[in-house]
Amino acid sequence: MISRIISINQIETLKKWLQTEEIKNQTKRSMAVFVQMFSARSEPQWLTEIEAAIRVVAPLAVIVGSSTMGEISEGRLLTNTSVISFVFFEKTGVQGFLVDTKNQDEALVGKNLSEKIESQCQKIAGVLLLATSSSMDASHFLKGFSAGRRGTYPVFGAGAGVYEGEQKPIVTLNQQFSSSGVVAVVFTGDDIDIVVHTYLGWEPLSKELTLTETDGLWLKTIDNQPAFEVYHRYLNIEDDENFFLNVLEFPLLVERNGVVYAKTPNEVKDHHDIKFIADIKQGESARIGYGNPALIIKNARDIQDRVQAFHPEGIFIYSCTCRRFLLQNEVELETKAFQTIAPSAGFYTHGEIVSHEETVMLLNATMVTVSMKEGVGKPPEAVLETGPTEPRTGQPCNRRDNRMIARLVKFFSRGNAGGGRKAAENGGEKLSAEAMVDPFNRQNNRIISQLVNFIKVVTAELEQANQEARLLAERDYLTQVYNRLKGHEFLQSEIARCNRYGQECAIMMIDVDFFKNVNDTYGHNIGDAVLVQLVKILTREIRTVDVLSRWGGEEFLLIMPQIDAQGATYAAERLRTVVEKTLFTQGLRQTASFGVATYKLGESPEAFIDRADKALYEAKQLGRNCVVSK
Ligand code: GH3
Ligand code: MG
Ligand code: MG
Repeated sequence: MISRIISINQIETLKKWLQTEEIKNQTKRSMAVFVQMFSARSEPQWLTEIEAAIRVVAPLAVIVGSSTMGEISEGRLLTNTSVISFVFFEKTGVQGFLVDTKNQDEALVGKNLSEKIESQCQKIAGVLLLATSSSMDASHFLKGFSAGRRGTYPVFGAGAGVYEGEQKPIVTLNQQFSSSGVVAVVFTGDDIDIVVHTYLGWEPLSKELTLTETDGLWLKTIDNQPAFEVYHRYLNIEDDENFFLNVLEFPLLVERNGVVYAKTPNEVKDHHDIKFIADIKQGESARIGYGNPALIIKNARDIQDRVQAFHPEGIFIYSCTCRRFLLQNEVELETKAFQTIAPSAGFYTHGEIVSHEETVMLLNATMVTVSMKEGVGKPPEAVLETGPTEPRTGQPCNRRDNRMIARLVKFFSRGNAGGGRKAAENGGEKLSAEAMVDPFNRQNNRIISQLVNFIKVVTAELEQANQEARLLAERDYLTQVYNRLKGHEFLQSEIARCNRYGQECAIMMIDVDFFKNVNDTYGHNIGDAVLVQLVKILTREIRTVDVLSRWGGEEFLLIMPQIDAQGATYAAERLRTVVEKTLFTQGLRQTASFGVATYKLGESPEAFIDRADKALYEAKQLGRNCVVSK
């Protein structure tokens, strides 16, 4: 197996390269020639031109293609170009299939395809899938594909991307094109070895959210709020044509069977629903995440070591576009090293495809590397010169309608048009700054402001959670007055104050009379309502410095600072009268008994409370609905 890569913008470059002795000889010697076109330009005319040129030299080649959101050639990021990867197999068979999913049940198409593959191909070593994931439900397709698949061979691939929102994604196979379909390439034979690695590097940022309502790929609500509102709150983004570009690197992270998967938002509808690229499940928990560059680079190194140990002869890289967004100029840190191992080519995708045991899934935000070799692994070729590749500065295409680019330029760079890898020339024609910009570059300011907003929202959420936790710890759940613990705390500090300054204070134990009867006659709920109503009345009547707490079931402690015995008794009498005169829920009449104690300096809180308790007991003995002071 020999792998060769060329990136082109002009067909002449390819034609010349194809005429080199090496390519001609390799073609003659090979059992199969497999060609992948990863192209920013997705119009059939251009792809047909490339194919025609290749067929002059390799008439039987299996040629597939995909539109991209950035191309990878020899481990480097290119933009606005066409990368063509050739694999010359000595002992491996290659067969291609194309299916259209337009107006069809994708799962059924997927199932039929995998069954067809297994009935027509022997000794399957691996299957590459290229799908137009933005114009079909690729997750649904893969569900069907998984259902029809019996073998254990790896399945890998990617979703075709587009540079411009108005452009249609495209996949191709041997001159057939589909803007809503899937190309499958089957590698067969005993001598081919394929290993697939994936890595994510995204970490959760938000609190845990629940996907409360979904409809297929549409997420309607998160925590019972419109899905868009939640994204808007965290990231301060709008429901406009830039939605996808704005949320791309902020996927939902879900954990399934101990593995974290990213689900990237794709589209928004009516300020409410958000469509995702990969499947989402109602009831599932998720967090909004963001890529951690340090983790990504570390993962990349680990994978590079493992790929190196495999000694591949060719490497395909399918990496999510959001990795470009995140890593910006450093994005090659995770691709470049592969080129030192073997020739590497691929593209920036709209969803990544990998199999895990019997399931083939559509992933997001992930990088997939596919390493291949024939026979026993041998050390890679040291030099990976692949011919007269055009300058790696990508060249925007002549045919491009610049409207979208112009909009993106305005949006991203605010006139800072130097972001992308610019073309020096395009067939001698000078390009405008707008046409040369790479829409996925120069995003730092936008991302920083999104992250700042994110942190602000998360901090506010934390503060609110803290406040709620504090309330829960201090307050009585039913009546919302302080609980016994907090009441005791207040009493201790009040006593300390009295002792320090020689001040007076009093407490009042209040107990509802014959409350059991209320429950027995009207039920517990009415009993609860009476308690809530009682607390409202008491709270309204007491001074702002007084502290009311629920001491037990239908018993309350009132702490009254700076009051003498006479004042406290008077206050208790007033409260007693107000309760007595109140018409409670259901027209109920209710009374309460009051035990009042005035603080004696030096007395312990326990002794103080004990005196109030005794006073209350006496009030009960005296027939209730009265005040006893100690
Ligand atoms: P007394 O005049 O001697 O105080 O008679 P009582 O019936 O009020 O006193 P007892 O201690 O016999 O009964 C108190 C009742 O209060 C029993 C209990 O079910 C009820 N209770 C305690 N907490 C709550 C509550 O949170 N909600 C309701 N509905 N009832 C409660
Ligand atoms: Mg009672
Ligand atoms: Mg009681």
